[in-house]
Amino acid sequence: MAEHRIIIVGSGIVGACLAYAAAFRGVRPLVISAGPPAGGGGATAASWAWINACSTEDPDYFRLRHASLHRWQIWMQQVDGIRFSARETFLWDLPPAELSRAVEGLAALSYPVTLIGGAELAMRLPRLCEIPDCALHTAIEGAVEPQATVEALFAAAGADHRQAHVHGLISDGGRVTGVMTDDGPVHADEVILAAGNATQRLLDTVSVALEMQSSDGLLVLSEPMEPFLSAVVAGPDFHVRQREDGRLLVGGTFGAYQPRPGNSTLAEDAGDQLLRIGEVFDLPAFPKVEGFTLGTRPIPKGGMPRIGRCPSPDGGRYEGLYLAVMHSGFSNGAGVAHAAMAEILDGESAAELAPFRMPDAPAGRG
Ligand SMILES: Cc1cc2nc3c(=O)[nH]c(=O)nc-3n(C[C@H](O)[C@H](O)[C@H](O)COP(=O)(O)OP(=O)(O)OC[C@H]3O[C@@H](n4cnc5c(N)ncnc54)[C@H](O)[C@@H]3O)c2cc1C
Repeated sequence: MAEHRIIIVGSGIVGACLAYAAAFRGVRPLVISAGPPAGGGGATAASWAWINACSTEDPDYFRLRHASLHRWQIWMQQVDGIRFSARETFLWDLPPAELSRAVEGLAALSYPVTLIGGAELAMRLPRLCEIPDCALHTAIEGAVEPQATVEALFAAAGADHRQAHVHGLISDGGRVTGVMTDDGPVHADEVILAAGNATQRLLDTVSVALEMQSSDGLLVLSEPMEPFLSAVVAGPDFHVRQREDGRLLVGGTFGAYQPRPGNSTLAEDAGDQLLRIGEVFDLPAFPKVEGFTLGTRPIPKGGMPRIGRCPSPDGGRYEGLYLAVMHSGFSNGAGVAHAAMAEILDGESAAELAPFRMPDAPAGRG
């Protein structure tokens, strides 16, 4: 008999969502993480935490994200302490023709999204002083606070937590039977890897190759300001939301962080990133930097999540091992966790996860 039914490696947002989904199905998992019990140490603490489905035009990925948004709405009713701290999205990070095409594509998938003109945007965001021709608007998205959300999910799950470094997976033929930690081995019927950027190295220990294209993102936190922004807002070279404590959380473009020409430190880049918000909005005073983070987004090669069973060297799939690694862990987390538990506990194959499987192992040379 294994010591545990389920071990989840990782206590970021993906591990937290999986722990809650498991507990909801009556299974209390053991969560093992090298970092603090809830959230810390990985990408989760450095995330903008916008939960959306509007940022993709890929129909399969859209369906996963849309289902996840619904799942979050259900969880917000079930779990004390999870709520949107910024509500609705205004987005104009693409040129008008591309934005218009994206809105048409999303509307064709029955997503409640509209293209609004600059005049309407100016009415909805009265402090905005750089007015674009048009913007995408949707009322059903929002952002959550990472730490509070992860803590609330773990509290609701009642999961056991062990702080330990996992060195590798323990396998017996085509089955993973546990993990090796710095406190010794821990055995389980099912090991779920939700270790973000450490997943690749852990999979290596059972000869599973996962290719990653992770990238860095700089987020700046301002000192508290008078409330002026309740929405999630993204233009071509900035994204910003205001937390309930009045602090702005500001990113640059959604791409990989690149040092700005002429700057020699991250602190200078952070200052410039926040300065931009003082140009875009008409504010009583320029916001001041309180802190900043440079987080690494865990992005599997190709940009899409990798979820499910992993190929074993014998040409099959490992039993007892389940993988959940992705960028957009906030947008995807609830939906992925709910569907993953149906796969793990009921042996079902969830259609919405099918496009995101690990490819088969390359055939050996004989
Ligand atoms: C700047 C930035 C902005 C972002 N904005 C958004 C956004 O707006 N919306 C969105 O959906 N996503 C966003 N993301 C992505 C999102 O934050 C990540 O997809 C998500 O946090 C990944 O969560 P995770 O739980 O998989 O990994 P992580 O949060 O990285 O957690 C990994 C966990 O694994 C543990 N671990 C690692 N190695 C080991 C080991 N050897 N042994 C034991 N434990 C280990 C760590 O302690 C940690 O608990 C953003 C990311 C960044 C960096």
